[in-house]
Amino acid sequence: MTTQSEQIIAKEAKHVLQVYKRIPVMFVRGQGSHLIDEHGQQYLDLLSGIGVASLGHAHTGLAEIIGKQAHELVHTSNLYFHPLQAEVASRLSRISGLERTFFCNSGTEAVEACLKFARRYWYSQGSKNRSEIIAFEGSFHGRTFGSLSVTAGEPYRVPFSPLLPGIRFVSPMDIDQITASITDRTAAVIVEPIQGEGGVRPIPATTANAISDACRATQTLLIADEVQCGLGRTGQPFYSPELGLTPDLMSLGKALGGGIPIGAALLNEKVSSAVSYGDHGSTYGGNLLACQAALVFLNALEDGLLQRVAEAGARLRSGLDTLVAASDELHEVRGSGLMCGIEVDTAVAEQIVNTALEHKLLVNRTAGTVVRLLPPLTISDQDIDDGLVRLRAAFADAGAQFH
Ligand code: PLP
Repeated sequence: MTTQSEQIIAKEAKHVLQVYKRIPVMFVRGQGSHLIDEHGQQYLDLLSGIGVASLGHAHTGLAEIIGKQAHELVHTSNLYFHPLQAEVASRLSRISGLERTFFCNSGTEAVEACLKFARRYWYSQGSKNRSEIIAFEGSFHGRTFGSLSVTAGEPYRVPFSPLLPGIRFVSPMDIDQITASITDRTAAVIVEPIQGEGGVRPIPATTANAISDACRATQTLLIADEVQCGLGRTGQPFYSPELGLTPDLMSLGKALGGGIPIGAALLNEKVSSAVSYGDHGSTYGGNLLACQAALVFLNALEDGLLQRVAEAGARLRSGLDTLVAASDELHEVRGSGLMCGIEVDTAVAEQIVNTALEHKLLVNRTAGTVVRLLPPLTISDQDIDDGLVRLRAAFADAGAQFH
């Protein structure tokens, strides 16, 4: 750290609300899958701003288009038409099969919107009492009141109670409990097809079948939270269809804007026909800058990125499987495509973020014992191979023995 960065940190400590325990590094530039700190040191970024910098850092096409848009028009509010929302919405509809989009600015807002639209649907059916929501143990859906209410972790919830009533958490492993919980009083089930913060845990196929069957039998709406696992992260546009899930609503965020904040709630025609003028809104939601960023991303997605993620994901997975097979302290690799979680011993998990940093590698620890990788979807083979070498060294420094 320089004197200048020490001054910045001291100023932060005084004026920025201290809700983040930051890692002591200050980034000033990026390029592709790399971030460069204030000393010009280059780090390999296997986290991409928690799954956000989907096209890598300082992507030329994205920079040019948002620069041009900024010179023309950034924001008008949703009081007026602009030319870009219709295009983004029709693209999202094409890849998801869900007809309509509500634009917002983040994942938590997309979840809030889905919860509200589910309630709105039952209200319009004259079933005002059909308000219960079923959510899953291990889930993370955001930190605003609605999304926090369907987020399982006690530390997130306890200081803010009481949260929304009528939420029930069920185990993703308990089929009987799932089936018994979804009734004609349930408004919606909300599920992450791959739990992200919960430790990169794909929902088992049997669970997905039980959810689908119970929703069909009781007409319950299904909300898929694809904020983290959606939009190409797994090598597929979305992970719900991989599990045979057909959601009525879907929440999106993270990768969509490649770093420019944008979220989206997608609705099928059945639910969207229940929503009226004034039911929901956002001042910023889907402004021109955010929509241009989303179009750059969606163009890439439909132009070979999915295939690339599948190939890159297979390469990364094979390297991770080799690491896990060679060490007793590394237990399991989970995930799909470029969403990977490595279950490790607690002692290794406690050290890994710091030892990786010493090897100029950015990874994340979640759910206590899981090392999470969410690299840019554009990561090259060379950077994957380099990442695996650094990760092995970082695991070794964190106490993993390789045989
Ligand atoms: N839903 C899921 C599945 C997430 O992983 C996250 C964030 O990690 C959110 C919702 C909340 O998104 P945001 O932090 O953009 O509000």
